[in-house]
Amino acid sequence: MTGKAYLVGSGPGGLGLLTMRAREVIDSADVVLYDQLPGEEILATLPENAERIDCGKYGGSHTMEQDEIEALMVERVKAGKIVVRLKGGDPFLFGRGGEEVETLREHGIRVEVVPGVTSAIAVPEMVGIPVTHRRYASQATFITGHEDPTKPESALDWEVLARLKGTLVILMGVKNLPAIAAALTANGKDPATPVAIIERGMRPDQRVTVGTLADIADKARAAGVRPPAVIVIGGVVELYDGGER
Ligand code: SAH
Repeated sequence: MTGKAYLVGSGPGGLGLLTMRAREVIDSADVVLYDQLPGEEILATLPENAERIDCGKYGGSHTMEQDEIEALMVERVKAGKIVVRLKGGDPFLFGRGGEEVETLREHGIRVEVVPGVTSAIAVPEMVGIPVTHRRYASQATFITGHEDPTKPESALDWEVLARLKGTLVILMGVKNLPAIAAALTANGKDPATPVAIIERGMRPDQRVTVGTLADIADKARAAGVRPPAVIVIGGVVELYDGGER
């Protein structure tokens, strides 16, 4: 067996924030598995001869299931290929990178993980919002918004999250934003807490919607906010600079 697997972070989008190690590994790939998060600018530079597998719309229109993706990676590595699984941001912050490594290891496959610049920090940063700041927040918490807070089986404790003094950074939270804002205020978080939603960060069509916990759900609905977006909740949002470059 001569194949190898790499789990590579693409950064938040754009070639500028792709690491040199990521570039080197991508350029050596026989197979690249990706979804849309890395963005067109990076996907346009995949090696010409590599097999490209779009996990977002594989075999027509359906999204590949996680176990299909993992099975395909195992199969290609065992066939001797250099397999790159390209993931948005950093591969170990949400997005199931840890699970992919576990599966590959169970099959006796060595995996090199190439860290990436995470959208959770870089996307707010690019519009002037630092996730920590001595005056506003001495801690930042990264939260998946994928779970509906109204479901009793939620792995998140909104009572605790509402009490935290630092910044809350929510990924994959657009759909559940109304429930998330309601859960935080119901558990005592100040409804006047500033909130920013940054859609399609680092892309030409990036857009920022700013409000408070009390009105952000209405504002997001009115603006037609869609994923992917990073939601930042906390005083640091006051440092939003309009995102002008
Ligand atoms: N591992 C990734 C996150 C994967 S979860 C990382 O470290 O960035 C996918 C979520 O990331 C999206 O739903 C969105 O919340 C966020 N995201 C990733 N790239 C983004 C971008 N360019 N703009 C806005 N949000 C982004």
